[in-house]
Amino acid sequence: MATCPYCKGHLTDGHRCPRRRIYVVAEIVAAAIAGGLGGWILLLAFDPRGVVTADGLAIGAGMLVGIGINRFARS
Ligand SMILES: [Zn+2]
Repeated sequence: MATCPYCKGHLTDGHRCPRRRIYVVAEIVAAAIAGGLGGWILLLAFDPRGVVTADGLAIGAGMLVGIGINRFARS
């Protein structure tokens, strides 16, 4: 059985190297930032005058949603 030159795994048909941890972490961070921004923008869109002061809550919820979507899309 040949081995993959990149990850040393068995080079089977359709072999795909496992993603490196640093990239996985970076992707989660990026998803959290994107989700947080999205949540914050949504809050601003629905509440442009800042009547509801829940910026942190919206950002936090958005981050969780972003990470959740990212994990779901990867699994
Ligand atoms: Zn590989």
